[in-house]
Amino acid sequence: MNIILLGPPGAGKGTQAKVLEETHGIVQLSTGDMLRAAVAAGGELGQEAKAVMDAGRLMPDDIMIQIISERIGQPDCAKGFTLDGFPRTTTQAEALERMLVEKSLKLDFVVEIAVDDDILVDRIDTRVAEMPESERRSDDNVETLRKRLGVYHEQTAPILPFYRDRDMLKQVDGMTSIEEVARQIEQVVSAV
Ligand code: AMP
Repeated sequence: MNIILLGPPGAGKGTQAKVLEETHGIVQLSTGDMLRAAVAAGGELGQEAKAVMDAGRLMPDDIMIQIISERIGQPDCAKGFTLDGFPRTTTQAEALERMLVEKSLKLDFVVEIAVDDDILVDRIDTRVAEMPESERRSDDNVETLRKRLGVYHEQTAPILPFYRDRDMLKQVDGMTSIEEVARQIEQVVSAV
């Protein structure tokens, strides 16, 4: 089973990808985690990623397409994967479609975790207040979140009709508990 989780920053894509990993053994492919690993490792890619992430912008499509193309060819993806954070632009969605055909892989469905912007801003406020400073991510603040939400609406939300047209899009309500969102996603999975 190969799935995409779409939704604004802070909607809970990573959390739900981990739930799917535990319940269905399908690996979480988080491009954000991959970039954060590159930042931690230093190097050129890491330096670029840090600047882009801190500014709330997106990394260039060609870099992200190459990273994912290499990753989905690895053996642990054979049992299935959840894409968390990719695609984020129409160019990435189109490249993914081509890449899957080339690798004879099939996308089962795309889940949109829908959450209103105001709720995401409230959530980040609470999270930042509760978290020790040492554990905070440098892009974890209201200002960067607002920029990332702008980028989401401008560049990522236009992917939704791309998948709706292909009859692949399923929407779940992300404005509820982690368990309830997981239950809604499970309903989608079991209907496939
Ligand atoms: P995330 O953890 O998915 O919220 O990603 C954190 C940051 O990494 C984003 O705000 C972007 O700057 C960058 N990023 C992650 N995935 C992508 C992608 N598919 N395309 C471009 N930039 C990305």
